[in-house]
Amino acid sequence: MAVVSDQATSICSHCDRAIPSTNLDLHFAHCSRNLEKCKICEDMVPRKFAEEHFLSTHAPVACSLCSETMEREILAVHRGENCPKRIVTCEYCEFPLPAIDLFEHQYVGTGQNYVIFVADILDSEKEMFMRVDAMES
Ligand SMILES: [Zn+2]
Ligand SMILES: [Zn+2]
Ligand SMILES: [Zn+2]
Ligand SMILES: [Zn+2]
Repeated sequence: MAVVSDQATSICSHCDRAIPSTNLDLHFAHCSRNLEKCKICEDMVPRKFAEEHFLSTHAPVACSLCSETMEREILAVHRGENCPKRIVTCEYCEFPLPAIDLFEHQYVGTGQNYVIFVADILDSEKEMFMRVDAMES
């Protein structure tokens, strides 16, 4: 035997929720007056806050660093990996600088890293000669 709930429900045509039939009229009056279905996430949002809901949930946001506008969902990734103005640390001198300047900083900037690179080669050549010396003596 089917279980029949003693509180029959009907679906509110405005919010698509199951509402006890006895309350449906009141609910519908209230619901249609106060709630609005968000066109994007289909959540029911109080009419008063529909704009706020859109702005805080769906509106594109501008990256505070490069001011590029993008979908909210990709902002975190953008800020962490793609933003040309995100601050990265130079792996050679540990100087923090915007990612967009890193290439220039490391390859044609001050020449400082070239110096480090040359110093590294000189060091390893020195070691090599020392080892050769050791082997020959
Ligand atoms: Zn409703
Ligand atoms: Zn929404
Ligand atoms: Zn950015
Ligand atoms: Zn550097």
